[in-house]
Amino acid sequence: MTTLSAQPRFLRSITLDRANKFTTTDFYSDINLYSKLYSKRSADAVELSVYSVPDLKRIPFEKAVKQTFKPTSTGTNYGPSWSTHWFKLRITVPKDWAGEHVELLWDSSSEAMIWSTDGIPRQGLTGDRGNDRRVEYTLLKKAKGGEVIDLWVEMACNGMFGTGKNGLINPPEDNRYFNLSQVELAVPNHDAWQLFYDMQVVTGMANELPNETARGQEALYVCNQVIDAYDRDDLASLKKCLQITHGFLSKKAAPDAHRVTAVGNCHIDTAWLWPYAETRRKTARSWSTQLRLMEDYPEYVFVCSQAQQLEWLAHDYPKLFQEIKEASKKGQFQVIGSTWVEMDCNLPSGEALCRQFLYGQRYYEKNFGARCKIFWLPDTFGYSAQLPQIVKQAGAQYFFTQKLSWNNINKFPNTTFTWVGLDGTKILTHMAPCETYTAQADVGDMVRSIRNNRDLAFSNQSLLPYGNGDGGGGPQRAMLERLRRMKDIDGLPRCDMGSAESFFESVEEKAKGLQEWKGELYFELHRGTYTSQAATKRYNRKLEFLLRDVEIATTLCMSLGRDHAYPKADLDLLWKDLLLNQFHDVLPGSSIELANIDARAIYRDIETKGKRLLEDSLRCLYQSKPSEDGDGNGESYVAFNSLGWDRSEIIEIPVQSGDNLQQYSAGKNTGYVRVDNGAFEYRDIADSKSETSRVQAIAHGQEFILDNDFIIAKFNQQGHLVSLYDKHETRELIPAGQAGNQFKIYEDVPLYWEAWDVEMYHLNCGKSAGPGKARIGEVGPLRATIIVEYTLTDLSTASQTIVLTAASPRLEFHMEADWHESRKLLKVEFTWDIISDVATYDSQFGVIQRPTTYNTSQDYAKFEVCGHKFADLSEHGYGVALLNDCKFGYSCHGNVMRLSLLRSPKAPDLHCDMGHHEFAFAVYPHKGTFHESNVVRESYQFNVPLAVHSIAKSSLREHKPISYFGIEGAKNVILDTIKRAEDSDHIVIRLHEAFGGRAQFKLKSPLNIQSVVRCNILEDESDPVEFNKDERSSGWIVLHAFEILTLKLKVK
Ligand SMILES: [Zn+2]
Repeated sequence: MTTLSAQPRFLRSITLDRANKFTTTDFYSDINLYSKLYSKRSADAVELSVYSVPDLKRIPFEKAVKQTFKPTSTGTNYGPSWSTHWFKLRITVPKDWAGEHVELLWDSSSEAMIWSTDGIPRQGLTGDRGNDRRVEYTLLKKAKGGEVIDLWVEMACNGMFGTGKNGLINPPEDNRYFNLSQVELAVPNHDAWQLFYDMQVVTGMANELPNETARGQEALYVCNQVIDAYDRDDLASLKKCLQITHGFLSKKAAPDAHRVTAVGNCHIDTAWLWPYAETRRKTARSWSTQLRLMEDYPEYVFVCSQAQQLEWLAHDYPKLFQEIKEASKKGQFQVIGSTWVEMDCNLPSGEALCRQFLYGQRYYEKNFGARCKIFWLPDTFGYSAQLPQIVKQAGAQYFFTQKLSWNNINKFPNTTFTWVGLDGTKILTHMAPCETYTAQADVGDMVRSIRNNRDLAFSNQSLLPYGNGDGGGGPQRAMLERLRRMKDIDGLPRCDMGSAESFFESVEEKAKGLQEWKGELYFELHRGTYTSQAATKRYNRKLEFLLRDVEIATTLCMSLGRDHAYPKADLDLLWKDLLLNQFHDVLPGSSIELANIDARAIYRDIETKGKRLLEDSLRCLYQSKPSEDGDGNGESYVAFNSLGWDRSEIIEIPVQSGDNLQQYSAGKNTGYVRVDNGAFEYRDIADSKSETSRVQAIAHGQEFILDNDFIIAKFNQQGHLVSLYDKHETRELIPAGQAGNQFKIYEDVPLYWEAWDVEMYHLNCGKSAGPGKARIGEVGPLRATIIVEYTLTDLSTASQTIVLTAASPRLEFHMEADWHESRKLLKVEFTWDIISDVATYDSQFGVIQRPTTYNTSQDYAKFEVCGHKFADLSEHGYGVALLNDCKFGYSCHGNVMRLSLLRSPKAPDLHCDMGHHEFAFAVYPHKGTFHESNVVRESYQFNVPLAVHSIAKSSLREHKPISYFGIEGAKNVILDTIKRAEDSDHIVIRLHEAFGGRAQFKLKSPLNIQSVVRCNILEDESDPVEFNKDERSSGWIVLHAFEILTLKLKVK
């Protein structure tokens, strides 16, 4: 007799739902597999007492344990936000737990850290619900029963993403309390956990593999089988379940399966939704956690980036730092990244990018014995076209990121490819196809590694950066368990826990015919980060130039044998602080207010100390003692030019009795003089020629006119630039009926990421700002001004001083604004009588051309772009540049050029950019195209004024102005950096070709240079450069387009 099967056909949707509910905490958690994970529990075993640290202070362990602790219990709330509470735990293991593996479960709904009694961080904890939850700490692998163990727990009243109100990026809540919901001992059920992990993989495969595959169907079938076999009243049934899953999981992957290298990491934003001080603790929590996992998983590899965080850790947690160094020797804890912090790559200067690598690589070499081969930067908002060259010159060879997967217009077409930089330097690059740097190491990640991999034909492998970031502490035990199971399994890629370096080496060896991508990796999102937090941007620009000037002046003192110690230690500290604030949520302006307050305090400190160093070194250079200074009639004004070419400028100086100046300022306490300085030269202002050209400001009918030998600029009553006429070229630049210097206010309401994003539709909703009212200020003959007062809106005002001097066609606009808006964006706009399909933008050690059209989706994706000191629009024969002194957001469309000035996002910093601002921009018209122009030099001059000091005349008695460095033969070479060598008293200089062409030049210097050698950014020496000591000149040096050249000049 035949009988029918008792089992109906299994259905996909129903089986998946059933399988998901088998392991979840959300349904049936009193009877499903989740309910069997612990076989014994005891809350009574833990005796708790607490000390709450007053005033939101974060105190060290040694201080904390000396305080008076009060008894407490679970269920208590702790707060407010950002406060710290230390707990003393006295644990008595139940006697009948002998032989058991015992865990402490701690959930304070916040971040916390377990300390041993000898003051070593043991592990981080992340409470609350979600993927990032980590509440288990292995107390004993085999209990004796009855033992008493003391521990300390430091509870921080913030979640892993800070304390944002009702959502991730909202400004922090000041008064949040966190519930200490769970403190108990527990004994895990080994079989239940094994089945739990097995089922995550089996269910994952049933979910992710296509239904048409036999393996996907099999996974589904196994889900049903396991749950059928599970008997909640009989724990022995778990063994039967495990037999079923083992049968499924033991089938091997195909021989040619895709290969995934899984690299553990925990992306810790150096500041973001929390201040720097909390990051210092996050590193200790996360990295101590990883050391514990390494003890249990010897094949596990974890990478950690950002030298700054390691330096903090070494300072705050020296014993933990030693443990990390030990783990690094074993190869399990690997330092990676090459840079000081994971910096923004749009806004820092070329030199700052070099210093990120210089300080990063030197730190790794000194503390971990080797430099990094990988530039690891998964989370930054666009990548400068000069990076391939800088990375290679900084001793690294590979680049890893994934951020372009966030593009909201075009999918980036490559996964594993060769990135070709501005100068042609090539670097092997991989963008993780899992499209995150906090992958969960689940089946979905494996499937995505193939599905999103756009270069499988060329390279059949991918990298999986997994682990929870920020406060999540990195990879979890479950991730490692899943990876073990997915190592070699039919239906999925082969997967190894390994190092990123071995991954790249393998790609380098095996990949064939990789595609190339030339130029910048423009990020099609977060375009508001060129403008948000205006003060941060301004400090960064000004301080990069300040440190540059300090290094130049102090290097000259050293080389001239002045009695002056090179302030290496001071400069290192200032540079490191500046680099720290270039972190990819600080300089871009995407951090909370607490972090921005920290950043501004750091900037003020750099400014104060940097200015003092500059003053000291210039006085030393002038051989002027402070006591001789400022004693009245014996004074002279001296100007120092820290730029590498001759310049003539009109500058303002205080008036002394007996002076006969060509022009006095309105208040008569200062006057104007023309100064002429050679490259890297200082001279007595009195040596300069008197200015023979003239400028004037006149009111004529309804117009205000500035007129010098170069241009005539006409403004209407509102301050709009209605005509700009080049006298030499007899050419009008403003089209009929159009204007420049027009302020526009745009609705600035992005889709989600407020501080980050300016969305493309903002351009649809721009209005003219309220009217300006112009009047004549100074009338010449050296400096003429028009002053315009603006009522931008009902809430915000601005005043503008428009300056034209006798010495230059550069028309300057100096602004002060009082800004009180919500989700509005202020831009200044110029319309030019110029036709060009591309605009040229200043970038790090070079320029980038981008379209002014909206033809293709790649074109209009660049509706707002990053430029440094200028953007230029040129056609055959003529062009005009819009310079700025601290702004970065440009948009050039057709013949309209806009500079973004101020934003007003309300998240994550509620007060972003509210209040007073100062900034300046300038128009520089020029004959010829950009390549034939002087725009690069002009933009430096606008950003680097001559340094002017009053010193005793006696100091200048013997002084003949000397140009300490000169470039002969090529105007397209910029000598940007002069510093002392890192490890000797030699001079290091850095130059670059700035326009995109060949340069052939000689380096001239009257300093006592014995020999010259090429080196890289890390100052490793390579080929010698011919240098004739008698002629004080090098031989011809050739640079190719956008090449960066570092030279070490050996002085006696
Ligand atoms: Zn980040």
